[in-house]
Amino acid sequence: MSHASGRHFLQIPGPTNVPDQVLRAMDMPTIDHRGPDFQALGQRLFGKIGKVFGTTNPVVIYPASGTGAWEAALTNTLSPGDTVLMYETGHFATLWKKLAEKLGLKPEFIAGDWRHGADAAAIGERLASDSGHEIKAVCVVHNETSTGCVSPIKAVRDAINAANHPALLLVDTISSLGSIDYRHDEWGVDVTVAGSQKGLMLPPGLSFNAVSNKALEASKSARLPNAYWGWGEMLEANSKGFFPYTPATNILYGLDTALDLLYEEGMENVFARHDRHAAATRAAVEAWGLEVLCAEPAHYSSSLTAVLMPERKGADEFRKSVLANFDMSLGAGLSKLSDQIFRIGHLGDFNDLMLMGTLSGVEMGLKTAGVKHRAGGARAAMEVLTADRTAGSISKAA
Ligand SMILES: *Cc1c(COP(=O)(O)O)cnc(C)c1O
Repeated sequence: MSHASGRHFLQIPGPTNVPDQVLRAMDMPTIDHRGPDFQALGQRLFGKIGKVFGTTNPVVIYPASGTGAWEAALTNTLSPGDTVLMYETGHFATLWKKLAEKLGLKPEFIAGDWRHGADAAAIGERLASDSGHEIKAVCVVHNETSTGCVSPIKAVRDAINAANHPALLLVDTISSLGSIDYRHDEWGVDVTVAGSQKGLMLPPGLSFNAVSNKALEASKSARLPNAYWGWGEMLEANSKGFFPYTPATNILYGLDTALDLLYEEGMENVFARHDRHAAATRAAVEAWGLEVLCAEPAHYSSSLTAVLMPERKGADEFRKSVLANFDMSLGAGLSKLSDQIFRIGHLGDFNDLMLMGTLSGVEMGLKTAGVKHRAGGARAAMEVLTADRTAGSISKAA
């Protein structure tokens, strides 16, 4: 492959761009993970990680991809044969359901059309009819990365409460944590599953379980076997700043810095920045005369936008041409959306000009690949991005 000058545009919805400060923070010698330097890092991290989840409860950090944290959430809280209510928001919800089946759980899947977030009312109805409390947990993907639709987690919790049902609430925030407003404690979530490589602006390799008291209580009687994923030994070692096995030391250095960057910007500002970039992206899509896959405006994702191809085909050729011509990676359509959509990631370490580079690349790509569209999407996005700047409502450059 010939050398491409300038920066590659990594605009898939995760892994995302890692900020230079984080890359430099990880460029360190490996240290003794049972020594005093590591302990100081561990204690600092456990002291500050909760804020990004909106929790004062423990957050378990695994040296694993997000899939590991899915498995951890289920095996720590449930027993063989337990019924779990899951919602088919898209590809990732389907993968989590398959994982639950492999573990010996009985997932019940509420069917979805891959164009909406979860329907809290449907979850509430199912729970209300479960008078014997067979359902032990409700599992929902907060931001369905395959479709660009967000599920209303607070409404799901309210529906569980309204049905007076004791089920645990487990939520996957792998592509929303640190990008889209999320509140583990306030929304009464029992286990929040997250990963390092999306909104947290880190390389792949870490994943997380934020754990409520009710989930900790459930873990004492849960009978699904686990060893590596067990919360008990983890929390015991974490209380002293350590891990029961070798942690991913250098990514933890990166996490320390990534959390500082998010907290310095302020979580409210981080969420507003993502909302604004998503709005500008949708303005571009509309101007191109293309359609956003998410069919419910209240569920639009602020971390990515999935775009339907005209006639629902040719997305892979289009993405290939954008990569070859402009050195930009866009997200593919997954499983049943394969070749029908492309996904624009606008999360993580990102600003207005990076978004304009991204949308210009998409628009140039639509033209060079011969995809039917109207010109002017990038211009429409510029209108959105300049409207609030000239009004002076945002003082800090996002
Ligand atoms: C990326 C992603 C996953 C998968 O995480 P891995 O780190 O690839 O194991 C799961 N759920 C959602 C919502 C994701 O975006």
